[in-house]
Amino acid sequence: MSETIGFYAQVCQNFDKAAALTRHDPHLLEQIKVCNSVYRMAFPIEKDDGSIEVIHAWRAEHSQHKTPTKGGIRYGLLVSEDEVMALAALMTYKCAIVNVPFGGAKGGVRIDRAAYSDRELERITRRYTYELFRKGFIGPAVDVPAPDYGSGPREMAWIADTYQALAPNDLNSLACVTGKPVGQGGVRGRKEATGRGVAYGIREACAVAEDMKPLGLTPGLAGKRVVVQGLGNVGYFAAKYLAEAGAILVGIAEYEGAIANPDGLDLDAVVAHRRERKSILGFPGATDIRRSAEALELPCDILVPAALENQITGENAPRIQARLVGEGANGPCTAEASTILEQRGVMVVPDMYLNAGGVTVSYFEWLKNLEHVAFGRMARRFESGVNHKLLAAVEQLTGKRLSEAEKAAFDGPDELALVNSGLEETMVNSYHEIRETRLRTPGKPDLRTAAFISAVDKIATTYGEMGIFP
Ligand code: NAD
Repeated sequence: MSETIGFYAQVCQNFDKAAALTRHDPHLLEQIKVCNSVYRMAFPIEKDDGSIEVIHAWRAEHSQHKTPTKGGIRYGLLVSEDEVMALAALMTYKCAIVNVPFGGAKGGVRIDRAAYSDRELERITRRYTYELFRKGFIGPAVDVPAPDYGSGPREMAWIADTYQALAPNDLNSLACVTGKPVGQGGVRGRKEATGRGVAYGIREACAVAEDMKPLGLTPGLAGKRVVVQGLGNVGYFAAKYLAEAGAILVGIAEYEGAIANPDGLDLDAVVAHRRERKSILGFPGATDIRRSAEALELPCDILVPAALENQITGENAPRIQARLVGEGANGPCTAEASTILEQRGVMVVPDMYLNAGGVTVSYFEWLKNLEHVAFGRMARRFESGVNHKLLAAVEQLTGKRLSEAEKAAFDGPDELALVNSGLEETMVNSYHEIRETRLRTPGKPDLRTAAFISAVDKIATTYGEMGIFP
């Protein structure tokens, strides 16, 4: 197997491997696999010094079997048409796996965001949105972007504002983009959702004793040694929730270098150190690793690559010591690396399931925007009242009294509690769906192949229900 093939071809290769284990019509499989539309654009922006620069950007909509299509926007120098198509395809399968009723899309702007001022970034983002609008590549019912590598809530707020200016009569205009700040129509819990989902997914995988045994691991997260690559949105929150569940963070890799401490690293102290020193290196009590990629090979139980694609390749896969690789990033293991890890008995929890927490909570945000009301607003006080009346009756019957702190647990749920519970439910159920697909597929393929089979079956059902490829 060659690694000279591009990211999109790798996704297609993984798809083909899974498709061969299904009985769907080959023409239907071809329709599911292809990337339906790609919009490649170039536009000028004015820099702060008055000069003009041409910016190159893309939006790919992989599948409209369900609409709107959905997918993040990446800001980075390595953005390319191939990458955007690959990530859009992964979004289609990801949404199907976690039962989010969207097709897959992805956007990319080829810039080094550190080289631009805030005002320049705003002009780029607004002009990009305008270009998407002009060609019908954005809208609450059409295509709904979200944050990805290099973009965040602020960029999403600019996108929403630009769209609202262009479509002032669209009552649902705020639903044109997700990952917005809470004050601008966002939903509580979206920022941490992907990392939180990564932690839930790894927790589920580790909870199955019979799957942990061949890895030489005991069930549960407590005491598991974890290495995380990338201390951005996904990596930071994945590390935080894994540590809160009892795992020990023994290594962190950022792009300037990595640090390791077998006794554990205090995540927030590392973040504070990096903010102050502008580098992760030199953290008290930790060993510096100047070649950041070497951290992937540290002794640990769980490795979470949460930076970018193609980090674990045919070259370093034989030296990975982790027993479980949880793909926080999209495409961190090449197809060749996945095969090597599988042969070495390493469990890979695949990206298209594991990092689907972001799109799951984006779906909740989109629903909130369409409903024009925050989750829990109508029912919280009512539910709280019912719960407390029941509690009072139980207290009277039993003669036992709860403390005020214990009683607080019976208050009705607020938006954050509802979002987190919906996310946990999704990650738990989807993991077991993939695992069961794996167990009933002849030859018991790896989890990635099982996840693809599960996605392909669901998309095929949608086409069947539309009377296409019955
Ligand atoms: P981010 O920009 O917030 O963080 C990425 C971090 O990785 C940065 O701190 C960066 O410095 C670091 N990094 C870059 N190259 C590195 C390298 N070679 N070694 C170590 N660290 C490196 O991005 P993010 O939103 O956390 O996205 C990370 C990955 O997760 C991407 O693959 C993205 O597509 C995927 N993802 C993100 C979301 C989301 O909601 N943000 C959802 C699903 C998937």
